[in-house]
Amino acid sequence: MAGNPRNGRPYRRLCAWLRAQRLPCWWCGHEIGYGLDARHPLSFTLDHQVPLSKGGSLLDRANARAAHRRCNSSRGNRTTPRRPERASRRW
Ligand SMILES: [Zn+2]
Repeated sequence: MAGNPRNGRPYRRLCAWLRAQRLPCWWCGHEIGYGLDARHPLSFTLDHQVPLSKGGSLLDRANARAAHRRCNSSRGNRTTPRRPERASRRW
């Protein structure tokens, strides 16, 4: 099998760059557990605004977003965040 680009150094650097910003989840807006185990549903994952399956760039910082593992995996192929109906602005 050909090399997986997600294992490459550029991808790891992109992950480190994004992780260092300690951004909230771009899907739900809540804080991400940056110290949590990578298997935890609320841990950090690198998500892509435009999915790779839709032509998004794997390594473009402009396409990289911080997301909970939980949110990333429940996202499917949607390209816009699903906001709660009763979104609170008090955060
Ligand atoms: Zn989230």
